[in-house]
Amino acid sequence: MQDIINRFISYVTIDTESDPNSETTPSTEKQWNLANKLVDELKAIGMHDVTIDKHSYVMATLPSNVSHQVPTIGFVAHFDTTPDFTGANVTPQIVENYDGKDIVLNKEQNIVLSPNYFKDLLLYKGQTLITTNGLTLLGADDKAGITEIVTAMEYLINNPEVKHGKIRVCFTPDEEIGRGADLFDVKKFGADWAYTMDGSQIGELEYENFNAAGVKITFKGKSVHPGYAKGKMINSMLLANDFINELPKNEIPQETKGYEGFFHVTQLSGSIEETKLELIIRDHDMKKFKERKKMVENITKKFNKKYAKQFGEDIVITEIKDQYYNMKEKVEPVMFIVDLAEKAMKSLGIKPLIKPIRGGTDGCRLSYMGLPCPNIFAGGHNFHGKYEYVPVESMKKAVDVIIKIAELTATTDFSKKKK
Ligand SMILES: [Zn+2]
Repeated sequence: MQDIINRFISYVTIDTESDPNSETTPSTEKQWNLANKLVDELKAIGMHDVTIDKHSYVMATLPSNVSHQVPTIGFVAHFDTTPDFTGANVTPQIVENYDGKDIVLNKEQNIVLSPNYFKDLLLYKGQTLITTNGLTLLGADDKAGITEIVTAMEYLINNPEVKHGKIRVCFTPDEEIGRGADLFDVKKFGADWAYTMDGSQIGELEYENFNAAGVKITFKGKSVHPGYAKGKMINSMLLANDFINELPKNEIPQETKGYEGFFHVTQLSGSIEETKLELIIRDHDMKKFKERKKMVENITKKFNKKYAKQFGEDIVITEIKDQYYNMKEKVEPVMFIVDLAEKAMKSLGIKPLIKPIRGGTDGCRLSYMGLPCPNIFAGGHNFHGKYEYVPVESMKKAVDVIIKIAELTATTDFSKKKK
């Protein structure tokens, strides 16, 4: 436990915030600080073939210790933290033997982590929690995942009686800005399948995520003196408002859960002359996902048709871009890789929580790049903000899950299961 705490703190106290406005990879220079440290650490614990490429992707190998043929498995985590909340000067606080009451994160500013609001806290009574000091995020997303992978590899190296096949690990930059998979060299990684250690609550196991598209719409208006505007003016802001009103009212994030998809307006700014609207489309079901995109196209057509005679040109210009797809399609043909993780959890007394992700992961992109990659819990809660915390016991369990998956992979007969 103490090793896990020390390792975790050594990672979260390095600021690795990513930046969506940067063109480079990694998006911020400071991510190199942790990437380089991880290289040194992987070498120090005895990993083989430790590499870091020019975009800061760190890879390493734990060679097989059995003579028979075993599939190569991989474990993946990201070292950047979200730009949504500051990750500079993280000062972790350790709460031992948590009593189920309010945790004061910051006395001066009266910032309290309370089980009245964050009910999940009560799952961890009696455990050791790591929290923030109320001023920064914690970075358990996803430095808990890195801690778990490195700790599991160290354990396997020090306990060669535990049999396993070849294991590859990779730590990536820029997951939080949606680019973690972009420059991931799947061929160089060379695993048959992998797991991202990037989920939340203990037991989480995920292989379904949204299909996702981003939409940018420009409304072109015509500004005329309001006193002489009749039949001449187009107020592009009002057009955008009408457009939003054409979308189904209840199919928005705050009204949906589970497998329900949505439209989500993320940006709106404008003047009479021009208004820009951005929204995202999410749906687990590919057919419904396509229908949602079609709906946006049809509304666009309707608007343009309505104003065509009067203005002789399209006044609504819509651009729809697919962002990622549901990994289920790529994982289902190799469902045994999910079953394996489930079996590992059950054998450790962890109740698997298998549920669709209402988002995406690096794993879904990797799955479409040829590396099937479900997601496993890393243990943290309340990611991307000052209320982020992680129970050390959950991190310990995640380490056990990695070790157990490695063991099971070496003892399972996959000959009948391969596609
Ligand atoms: Zn993450």
